[in-house]
Formats: sequence, C-alpha cells, structure tokens
Amino acid sequence: MTQAEGKKVVVVGAGWAGLGATYHLAKQGYAVTLLEAGPQPGGLVAGWKTAGGRSVEAGIHGFWYPYRNIFALVDELHLQPFTPYTHSSQYSPAGLEVESPLFQAMPYLPSPLGTFLYTRFKRLPLVDRLSALPLLYAVIDFDNSDAAWRRYDKVTARELFKQFGVSARLYKESFEPMLLVGLFAPGEQCSAAAALGMLYYFILAHQPDFDVRWCRGTVGEQIFRPWVEQIEQLGGRVLANQRVSDVEVSDNRVTAVRCGDERFETDAVIFSVGITGMKKIVAGSPTLRSRPEFRNLSNLGAVDVLATRLWCDRKIDIPLPSNACFGFHQTTGWTFFDLNALHDDYRSEPGSVIEVDYYHANQLIPLDDEQIVPLVQANLAGCIPAFGEAKIIDHSVIRLPQAVSHFAPGSYQYLLPSATSFSNLFMSGDWIITRHGSWSQEKAYVTGLEAANRVIGQLGPGQPAKILPVIPDEPHIQAARAVNRAVRSAVEGVLPGFWLP
Ligand SMILES: Cc1cc2nc3c(=O)[nH]c(=O)nc-3n(C[C@H](O)[C@H](O)[C@H](O)COP(=O)(O)OP(=O)(O)OC[C@H]3O[C@@H](n4cnc5c(N)ncnc54)[C@H](O)[C@@H]3O)c2cc1C
Repeated sequence: MTQAEGKKVVVVGAGWAGLGATYHLAKQGYAVTLLEAGPQPGGLVAGWKTAGGRSVEAGIHGFWYPYRNIFALVDELHLQPFTPYTHSSQYSPAGLEVESPLFQAMPYLPSPLGTFLYTRFKRLPLVDRLSALPLLYAVIDFDNSDAAWRRYDKVTARELFKQFGVSARLYKESFEPMLLVGLFAPGEQCSAAAALGMLYYFILAHQPDFDVRWCRGTVGEQIFRPWVEQIEQLGGRVLANQRVSDVEVSDNRVTAVRCGDERFETDAVIFSVGITGMKKIVAGSPTLRSRPEFRNLSNLGAVDVLATRLWCDRKIDIPLPSNACFGFHQTTGWTFFDLNALHDDYRSEPGSVIEVDYYHANQLIPLDDEQIVPLVQANLAGCIPAFGEAKIIDHSVIRLPQAVSHFAPGSYQYLLPSATSFSNLFMSGDWIITRHGSWSQEKAYVTGLEAANRVIGQLGPGQPAKILPVIPDEPHIQAARAVNRAVRSAVEGVLPGFWLP
C-alpha cells in the first residue's frame, strides 16, 4: 500500500470535472469515491440507449482544436473516439449563410487574419465584416486575468459590441449566433468578459482553433465507459444514484460527505457539480449555507437546453455534418448534425438520423413531444427544404432545464475559485474560476485536474497532474498585450480611479 492509499477523497459529480479529478487521484493511489446523483456517469455529456436500443445523449458535443488536455487523455486511455475534423455551415431562414473551411488546411496567417479571410460568408457584406476591426482592442485588452474579468464582466456582450462599433447586421448574423451556441444566451444576457474569453479561445487565438471534431458515437459510450472502467481498475469507486445532500465539518475541515443518511468519511472533498446542483446542495446544507461564498451562489443561474433526435424515413442530402442556425427564434440558437455521417451506429441506417439541439430553449422546454417534433422538422426544412417531405418515424426529446452555466453580466464576482474557505474542500467544473483560459468540456476537465492537484498539495504524496496550458498567444498578440499593459499601468499610476470599470 502506498502512503496515498490510506487517504480518502470524495468527489461529487461525475461529469468531465469529477471524472478528471477521480482518475488522477486514483492513479496516485488515493482511495477515491466518486458520488453521482444520476443513473450513469457523464453529467451533461451522458448518453444512453432508449428502450428500443437506440443511442441518445444530452446534446451532441464538439471537441475543438485547442482541447489539448482531453486529446492527451484519450491518447493515454488508448481510445480513438473522434471523427476527423469537420467543416461546418451556418443557416438562417434565408438559406445558407456561411461555410467554414478546415482552417488547419489553409496557409497559416497571423491571428485573426485567417478567421476573417477564409470564412466564406454568402451574404454578409464586407463593410459589415470590417466593422469588427475596432473590437480587436478589447480582444487584446481582455487577457483572462482577474483584473480583465472585473473590467468587462459588468458590461453585456451586446453593449460591448455596440461600444466598439460592430454593425447591427454583423452582430445579428455572426456574433449573437456565436454567443447563443458558445455561451447559451443572447448578447444582452452574456457577460462581455465571458464573450471575449470564449470567442478568443474558440475562434480568434490561432487560425485552426475553430476546427472541430465529434465523437463517433455517444461520448458516454466512446469515452466515459472505458474511462470509468480504467478508474475502477485503479481502485477508484464510481457510485451512481448517490445524491449528495450535506457535508460534516470539524475544525474547518470536511470530515464526511452525506447522501441522506449515508455517510462517506473523507480527508478531502472535491465538488464537481454544475451551478444548479450546487445551489440545491447549499440550500439543503446548514454548514455550507453558513458561508457567504456558498450563499452567494444564489446569485448565479443556468440556462435551459433541449436536445432532440429525429429518425427520418429517407436519406436527406445534407451538405455538411455540423450546422449552426440563427434567425429562427428571437433568443434561441440551434444546431443540427447529420449523425449518419458522424456516428458509426447510424452510418448504414436507411434514413437520416438528425440531432437538433436548442440553446436558451426556455420557451420550448414546456412543450410536449408532439408539439416539439413538428417544430424541429419545420426548422430543419427552413434550412434544407427536403426535410419538409420526410416522415419522422422515431424521435427522442431530452429536456435539460437549468442545465448549462450562465455567464451573466455581473456573475464573475460570485463564481467560486478552486480553493474555498474550508481548508480541504475544493471546487471544479466549467463555471469555476481558472486562469487556464479554456472553456466548456476542456475547462471542466482542466479544473478537475487543478482540484486534484490541490488535494495532492495538501494531503501528499503523489505527482500533480500535468496540465497542458492553452497554446500560447501568437507573438504579435503577446507584443500588443505587453504594450497595452504598460500603457494601462502608466495611466493608472497617474489618473485616479474615478471612472466605472
Ligand atoms: C446540449 C449541450 C451541448 C453542449 N455542447 C458542447 C460542445 O459542443 N462542446 C463542449 O465542449 N461543451 C459543450 N457543452 C457544455 C459541456 O457539456 C459542459 O461544459 C461540461 O460537460 C460540464 O462538465 P462538468 O463536469 O463541469 O459538469 P456536469 O457535466 O454538469 O456534471 C456535474 C455532475 O454532477 C452531478 N450532480 C449534481 N448534483 C449532485 C449531487 N447533489 N450529488 C451528486 N452528484 C450531483 C450531475 O448529475 C452531473 O453528473 C454542451 C452542453 C449541452 C447541455
């Protein structure tokens, strides 16, 4: 038995963050128990089979070029879950609007030139595209530091784009659709800091960053199942249907985690639960409620998402496998995917199998399946008319109320960092503050590793997880940021802090 094997760690929530923390701690010889409220691991990325044996999942998930840590993980696990990188397109009710090339296949240009020059806009006039240029100052100024978050977080993304002179058309047809798909909310409900961070990470930092690939089946089947098997082989325990309700504390240390009457004693705990789940735990826990940082989570929110899958009676010609759509609903974005092209399971299916996911789907969630399916079909037909002729022979509708993190204006001050005021309670997940710079699944996984490293730092022994940093800024961006920082600090040294940030 290694020294670490005697040390118990409880991880709460089996999404990317919780599994990442559990896996690393199990590798280091800790006695890790992962408690998951749902029937299977995976969190927002969970997948399962319907009664009829068909694979479904809580929304399809893309893996973007900069997801270096997730790609390193699947290599370590000897998995090959991904499709090649795919092209994507964008539709509006007027038809095809944008086609993205494979950016990594194009001659490399300094960022963000490649993004601007290689993206094929079908309708958007050049003058509108050029109106984005002044925004580059904000992109340089927002360097993901705490100060930058505080400077931009209280402004809405819409206000930011307006202030920097982005044209109404460019905002409506390009930036807002990106916000709806990337941050799950319309611009007036997104923090400008989150918008800048997300756009830089996924699109602007390096030419190939917008290239994306998908799992060849559900992420649950392709990645999480073998990953959990590996964790169990290492001695970690992954327990489903265990809803954590409270913690026991002595001398400012968590000594046990409770699931109703059941107790799990521990030397450290990592919460890897989404915002809504965490708020529920805090509401039911006198111990957590007694601390302002946890009480303040009531100021955070989450967004409704709807994931649908349609089986058609015929094959429909769909030019590209992944597609984003705008202009069909006031404040809801949506995407559709040709699963015959992406998933091995559906490759030889006689009819098209289409995943259609709606983000910020508040007004759609209360509808019955019988109302949702025709709406989805009509939206698809608005992009590719042949969908209107097809018969829908089966469907799956998964409602995800209050599911994804909402980076609302003013929310940064209430987000939690990895370390908390309890000496051995650590946080992880896609809404936890990190200076890493990644987003979504990659961020969740990275914060899981960061929390595991804090446990190791405190309980020792064990090697900290190696976390790959985001690909460094290109030299001209580094230089521009250095100049901007120098000017900022010179000005701040002279002028009083008189203006609102
Ligand atoms: C439709 C949709 C599409 C998306 N598309 C993409 C995409 O293309 N690319 C991308 O990178 N990201 C995408 N995302 C975002 C991505 O899913 C999340 O960023 C990521 O999965 C978050 O992981 P997490 O570990 O932080 O949290 P979660 O996955 O939310 O995991 C938290 C876990 O905690 C559990 N839990 C909650 N309460 C308790 C409790 N009391 N006790 C025990 N367990 C509890 C939950 O059941 C859950 O399993 C998408 C999300 C959705 C919904």
